[in-house]
Amino acid sequence: MKVISVERSDGPLKCKWCGKELTPDMEIEYSALECEYFCGSECATDYYFEFMKSMVIYLDESEDLEVVDGKVYEKRSEWK
Ligand SMILES: [Zn+2]
Repeated sequence: MKVISVERSDGPLKCKWCGKELTPDMEIEYSALECEYFCGSECATDYYFEFMKSMVIYLDESEDLEVVDGKVYEKRSEWK
């Protein structure tokens, strides 16, 4: 396959997370999965955590996990 023509994007690229225009002094991150650019690893990380619906678990508030002998277990419920 050959590249037939190359066009520039309509406007300057912006960070997918914070919307800042990307500049050459930034440590630009790229997500190959999402095809999105970020102004740095901090914005990329925030986006990835949000994308993956990632959250901190507080064991004393969790209804799904329990601590037994200093190790963490998932509670499995059986439905009938
Ligand atoms: Zn950003």
